[in-house]
This record gives sequence, structure tokens and C-alpha cells, in this order.
Amino acid sequence: MAAHRPRRTPQASGRRFAVLDPATGEPFDEAPDQRPEELDAVVARAQEAWRGWRTDPVARSTALLAAADAVEAAGPDIAPLLTREQGKPLAESNAEIDRTAARLRYFAGLHPRPQPLTDGRPVRSEIRWRSLGPVAAIVPWNFPLQLASAKFAPALAAGNTMVLKPSPFTPLATRLLASVISTALPEDVLTVVTGHEPLGARLASHPGIRHVTFTGSAPTGRAVAAGAAASLARVTLELGGNDAAVLLEDVEVERIADRLFWAAFRNCGQVCMAVKRVYAPARLYSDVVEALAQRAKDTVVGPGLDPGTQLGPVSNAPQLARVESRTAQALAAGARAVAGGHRLDRPGYFHAPTILADVPPDSPVVTEEQFGPVLPVLPYGNLDEAVEAANGTGFGLGGSVWGTDTDLAEAVAGRLDCGTAWINHHAELSLAQPFAGVKESGVGVAGGPWGLYGNLRPFVVHRPEEA
Ligand code: NAD
Repeated sequence: MAAHRPRRTPQASGRRFAVLDPATGEPFDEAPDQRPEELDAVVARAQEAWRGWRTDPVARSTALLAAADAVEAAGPDIAPLLTREQGKPLAESNAEIDRTAARLRYFAGLHPRPQPLTDGRPVRSEIRWRSLGPVAAIVPWNFPLQLASAKFAPALAAGNTMVLKPSPFTPLATRLLASVISTALPEDVLTVVTGHEPLGARLASHPGIRHVTFTGSAPTGRAVAAGAAASLARVTLELGGNDAAVLLEDVEVERIADRLFWAAFRNCGQVCMAVKRVYAPARLYSDVVEALAQRAKDTVVGPGLDPGTQLGPVSNAPQLARVESRTAQALAAGARAVAGGHRLDRPGYFHAPTILADVPPDSPVVTEEQFGPVLPVLPYGNLDEAVEAANGTGFGLGGSVWGTDTDLAEAVAGRLDCGTAWINHHAELSLAQPFAGVKESGVGVAGGPWGLYGNLRPFVVHRPEEA
């Protein structure tokens, strides 16, 4: 750890807060508890750094490629820290590092192209692209590095500077990551601020910030959008999800069961686009429930740093309480826990991987996102019914269809009201794809070239053909 120490964040108060290990429930380190008033100086420095950073796209690409190399080299330091504060198995933390480096490389290679405009008039018009200025990113605790990089890689590639606020549950790996990346960047191009509310609210509404990009829950997203309205900053919101997996009559249950199970339980189910509901044809219902329950019972649960752990703890105490309460409500309404159904009797925030059968369709574990290791399985009579149920929540992030006839599966997938649909798998994302939820799942488009252009503004020059 000694090689990469986060820069000591200059702060007025000197206050710090404890960071807990979800595998024990005990504090193991601390982070700066910055006050909202400190943001004025931070944003002013980001504004100053923007003057140089915006000018040279080639230098930016070179710096971002060097940053990617630095992230990979520091992976063995960063990954265990991420597991310690977030809970996920070490292999999943390593995957976050890999994805972060890949994103830096991807956006280092994307360049906005000037575009000629032709409308038949004798005018040579051209769109050029300009950066926005200092932008803000506010991210949650489930994928601290991966979600932060989805914001800073396109923003910095576009020529903006960024102030990044991680969740107070997971501030440490982000601080370390930023200090590693900053070895390849000019000072104040990427700054991390940590602390409790109203730090995020103040950042979202800060008059010096030109784009607020937020990932988190829908209620907080609304507050962020309202805050950004004060300075009329651009807003991109990536919010919750309640993805359905629809199984077709010809699905081979044993063949897909492992993939389906992990699409729901990876990162302890704390994935915006995890499978959060399974719809199985009535004829196959008990086979599907049994296959998933068997996998839940076989899963090795333990601290993320233990080799062999497949499922870590829930990431924090409030989230564990939400998962327990949704599960208890479903059980009280008549659902059956075919596997799990309770938290584990041990220190830390461990919850047994849980498969719920016979769940009333209006139970909150079905209608709202559980964001934890609990999966309801529901039967359906005909496909129209299944599609209507899949589309029947306020969310629209992703969805999947599973079966042998992949043409039929694709036709059913086309009826899902969401941003990304998969056939026979779930939540595999390309760096090059647009990422956009519908309904309460989000506003704006991230990812791929859309993510880059979302961080730029068009600047149009009109010039007559004749001199
Ligand atoms: P959250 O909304 O509570 O917090 C997200 C971030 O906002 C944190 O950094 C938090 O400190 C900050 N924040 C809290 N109040 C704020 C305010 N008033 N103004 C500005 N910032 C504020 O979400 P969470 O519990 O950290 O994360 C879980 C949620 O994130 C789930 O709903 C999940 O579906 C969602 N999520 C969405 C995506 C996506 O891409 N669509 C990805 C991952 C997670």
C-alpha cells in the first residue's frame, strides 16, 4: 500500500469519518469528512486546471493511456482495499480495476470529429466540439471504481476537469485510484471529495459545475436534478433497475441455471442491472425454483478476501436492513423461502442467498428493487402475460429472455420496455454501447461515443462559400 498514498486532501476542518468493513461491521480506516464550503476552492482549482487540459487532445490521450497503465500496475494495492470497504470477492474487485483501465484506454482512443453541415445553401457550415468546463460525478457504493470511471474517462477525454464524490460507505479505493491516476495527469484535473450530505447536494448545485453525472437511486436522482437546475447545469442520471428475466417454454433449465443465478447474485445482487425477478412458464416453475435454490444452497458465502468466497456480505447496514425487510414482507404475505430467507448469524452484514417462490406479484420484493441476494421466481401462463409483468414496474433499465429458439427470444426481447435486452445472458455490457434507462431508470445517455458527446457542446461555424 505504501507505493500509492492518496494525496492528503486539503481541507478546512481536518475532520475524518470511520469506514466500516462489511465482513465484520467494524471500522478499519477513515476518510476526510469534507464540508460543503470546501467545494468553492476545489471547483475553482478544477476551473483553473481546465484552461490547460482542454487545449491539447493528443496530450490528453497520452495522459489517459498512461493513467490506464498506472491503474493496472496499482491493481494489487487497490483491489483488496475495495473488497475491504465494499465486501465483494477479490476477483470482482480485480474486475473493476480491469474495467477501469479498459475504459480509460477506450475513451483515450475516441476523438470528436468536426462534422460538415449540408443544407443546400452556399454556406460551409461545420460543427466543432468544445468541452464544458469542470463537471461533477456522484456515484454509489456498489461499483465504486467502475461507475466512477464510466464518468471520469469520457469527461476527461472530452477535455473537462472533474470533481468526483464517492459514497461515504466506499471512499477509500476511489481516493487511492484517483491518486494513482493523478500521477499521469496535471494537478486538479481529477479531484475526489469525500464526506456526508449535504456535500453531494452542494456539489450538484455548485454554480461552477457545468454537467452533473449521477448514478444512484431514483429519489436521490430527483434531488440532484433539482439541485442542478439552480445553475442550469447539464444532468445525466443513471438510476435504479428492476430487470426481469423471462424464461421461454423451450428453455433448458439445467443448461442456463448457473448463468441465470449469477446474473442475479453477482456482487451480492447489488447491481443496477441484476436479474431481480424471474418469470418462468407454469409447466417449468418447480424445476426453475429447484435449480436456482440448489445453486443458492451450494454458494460459498464469506468475507471477500477469503479465497473461495463466491458471495460476500451485503455492503452496508442500511442496505442489509432493506433486504431483510423486503424479504420479511414477502414471507409474511405467503411467499416461501426455498433457499435462505434470513441474514446469517455471524458478525458482519451477511445474508443467505435466497430464492423466494409463490411470491404475491404486488409484493415490494417484486415491484421495487431489492438490491441484495434475494430473488423472487414467479410463474406465468402465456407470453403476453409475462411481457406485461416484465414491463409492469416503474423501472426500465434492462431485461433478458432465455430459451432455445433464439429468434422467438429476440422477438420477445424486442417487446421489453428498457434500455438493453439480452438473449440467454444478462448485464453483459460493451464499452462501445449506449447505456440509457427508460422510465425511472434514467435520463440521458452514457457509454460509447454517446458518453463522449454527452460531455461536449456543439460549436457551429458558418462561413459563406464565396470569399
Ligand atoms: P444513493 O442514491 O443513496 O446515493 C448515491 C450517491 O449520491 C452517493 O454518493 C450519495 O452519497 C449521494 N447523495 C446522497 N444524497 C444526495 C443528495 N441529496 N444530493 C447529491 N448526492 C447525494 O444510492 P446508493 O444507495 O449509494 O446506491 C444504490 C442505488 O444506485 C440503487 O438504486 C441502484 O439501482 C443504483 N444504481 C444505478 C446504476 C445505473 O447505472 N443505473 C448503477 C449502480 C447503482
